[in-house]
Amino acid sequence: MVGWIHQENIMKCVICKHGETSDGFATVTIERESLTFVVKLVPARVCSNCGEEYVEEHIAAELFKSAAEISKSGAELDVRNYLKAA
Ligand SMILES: [Zn+2]
Repeated sequence: MVGWIHQENIMKCVICKHGETSDGFATVTIERESLTFVVKLVPARVCSNCGEEYVEEHIAAELFKSAAEISKSGAELDVRNYLKAA
């Protein structure tokens, strides 16, 4: 599961309150109408303790925008790598 953060560069995990976060990658799944949009290799900060993933708000906004566009085409499943799509 991915937590959407509202501040840049969160350092302490807000879920377990113990772990430090470090740079890593997350797989994000967005469901919108009939579309399931899966994006791999999304830059994220990952908690070293519980594994919670934090995606920055501007990246999340970008993913939701892509999902809206793909949804309009009537696709039901779209899987892509964030780094290649960018
Ligand atoms: Zn944690």
